[in-house]
Amino acid sequence: MARVAVVTGGTRGIGEAISKALKAAGYEVAATYHANDEAAAKFKAETGVHVYKWDVSKYEDCVQGLATVTKDLGPIDVLVNNAGITKDGFFHKMTPEQWYAVINTNLNSLFNMTRPVIEGMRERGFGRIINISSVNGQKGQAGQSNYSAAKAGDIGFTKALAQENANKGVTVNAICPGYIATEMVRAVPKEVLEKSILPLIPLRRLGEPSEIGRCVVFLASDEAGLITGSTISANGGQYMV
Ligand code: NDP
Repeated sequence: MARVAVVTGGTRGIGEAISKALKAAGYEVAATYHANDEAAAKFKAETGVHVYKWDVSKYEDCVQGLATVTKDLGPIDVLVNNAGITKDGFFHKMTPEQWYAVINTNLNSLFNMTRPVIEGMRERGFGRIINISSVNGQKGQAGQSNYSAAKAGDIGFTKALAQENANKGVTVNAICPGYIATEMVRAVPKEVLEKSILPLIPLRRLGEPSEIGRCVVFLASDEAGLITGSTISANGGQYMV
């Protein structure tokens, strides 16, 4: 029977590529989203992937949503915590709303999504949890104190959870993308891209969403069973840790 994978924010951007890559690798995929019904409907029509709508920043919504996925598709073997937002601004101007929204969506969501599935993974002796962090969680980024804090928190969570679950066949890893050519990054003016962004990247190119998808498929596989508590830096060499 196909393994079941849940991808949060799996209908657009990097998440869309992750959902497609997992489907192509033979997984039964549930892609979640929050508000953009149009993108979700288009994604569903194009891929045939199961789509679910709930807010990952709300614990009860995650409990209910995951129960529905389990009823529809079976127990969850792979969880990809990908959903994320930015609300940038310098800290001395940042509002509580900017801070809490980003922490709730990018960090607290990892509790909300992982807590309901971890006991089942432990009982069944297999699980893969893959958290999409960011290069800015590794190095910090001016204008993104909220986002950098959340994404660094994702890495700490990954390491602690990996230690707690290694003897139960459950691996927990993080991926830190750099600049990935999603809609948002593609919208950056060519001049800004060429003068300010590409010079920071030794490979002198943006990453493709499909490259993150392939990292996820690898970490989810049986062949990656030795790897837990790791962080894959997929950033063209932008920041080396
Ligand atoms: P997008 O903005 O393209 O997509 C975000 C996805 O997350 C959407 O599906 C969105 O749903 C969903 N989402 C947002 N908030 C919630 C919520 N509260 N509940 C449920 N789903 C939610 O993001 P990217 O593809 O650019 O980024 C994906 C991940 O990769 C993020 O964690 C981001 O921080 C990280 N990342 C991205 C980089 C990049 O260059 N793009 C670089 C490094 C890290 P909806 O469609 O309904 O809005």
